[in-house]
Amino acid sequence: MTKPQVKDFDLNDAASRLIAKNEFDGHLVYGSKKFHTATHRSNAKKDGPADGAMHHEQHDVVRDSGADRYQRIPEFWEDVNECPICGSKNRSFYLSRFALDIYSCDDCTHRYMHPRIKFEKLITLYAKDYTANKVYSSEPQMDIDGVKSTYGLNLLDKLGVPDRGRIMDLGCGSGKFLATAKQHGWNECIGVDANPTFQDIHEEVNGVRFIYSSFETLDTNAIGEGYSAITLWNVLEHLYDLKSIVRQIHSLLKKDGLLFIMVPNVESMATKLIREKSATFNWKHVAHFSPKSLEKLMNDAGFETALMETSISEIENVKSYMNGAWPYSGYGDPDGNFDFITPSFLHENMLGSRLIGVFRR
Ligand SMILES: [Zn+2]
Repeated sequence: MTKPQVKDFDLNDAASRLIAKNEFDGHLVYGSKKFHTATHRSNAKKDGPADGAMHHEQHDVVRDSGADRYQRIPEFWEDVNECPICGSKNRSFYLSRFALDIYSCDDCTHRYMHPRIKFEKLITLYAKDYTANKVYSSEPQMDIDGVKSTYGLNLLDKLGVPDRGRIMDLGCGSGKFLATAKQHGWNECIGVDANPTFQDIHEEVNGVRFIYSSFETLDTNAIGEGYSAITLWNVLEHLYDLKSIVRQIHSLLKKDGLLFIMVPNVESMATKLIREKSATFNWKHVAHFSPKSLEKLMNDAGFETALMETSISEIENVKSYMNGAWPYSGYGDPDGNFDFITPSFLHENMLGSRLIGVFRR
């Protein structure tokens, strides 16, 4: 085993002092795993101070009731027996938030909720969900979405969409994307959404056809086929039967047609760091994609990957949290402690908050 060495240093030279200081930094000398076990901070019983357990003497003053504060009401939940992407039964517990348990697939890295809310119950929760409408019909959000939509449409052009014939947006919400597509020269724009609360807004959108339906019950005769592009903006993470829906989308596209996907990135810097405080772990999100699991879902359905990248850095949330503040407080990094973390650093390493994937039939 390596032994730490006493090293002399030059008082006025930070680099030389660093070399001397590193010799009493256990993690650097031994590696953190070896250091924790060799110093009994971590042990096989998993009750050492570095194992996340309460110190044994504290049990004299704190009783472990074993009860969780948030408990699922059993009748509304059903088990998910295998990974919805690769079918593997091998999984590890990832985290829990307000009694929503998230597991990580050991084989394809996908994260998913288990158990999940029964579909019949889920519908009733969505019917009570007015938050989405409020968020997405606010003016700054509409402005941002207009720019985001244009970026998506430009991506489709630059990646060689066959033509600007038929485009369908599944989970179209307010219809902002399709209104932008119409202006961008798309001929036939079709929006599908299960939520009829957007109907008033839709009436003001010209040249777009809206269909109120869930994907599971979508009438494929009504929507036809031969689409040049199909888009799903922040939709896939909500869906229960991913594989059959993606297969269905594949059959609706014409040859070389493009499928555009935006989903939360479960391997974003923000989510990796904020974990169970992250707003992405909510009852609506049953699927949490990693770059790998998104690509696997699409490739398995016969799509070829045209582009994978991340967008939306969530950098202020990351830095607020790194500074010890609530991640969504807007505290940020007023002293510039973390200036080296930049949007380009995050996106170069696929650490942005949203995954963008474009896939070709
Ligand atoms: Zn899997």
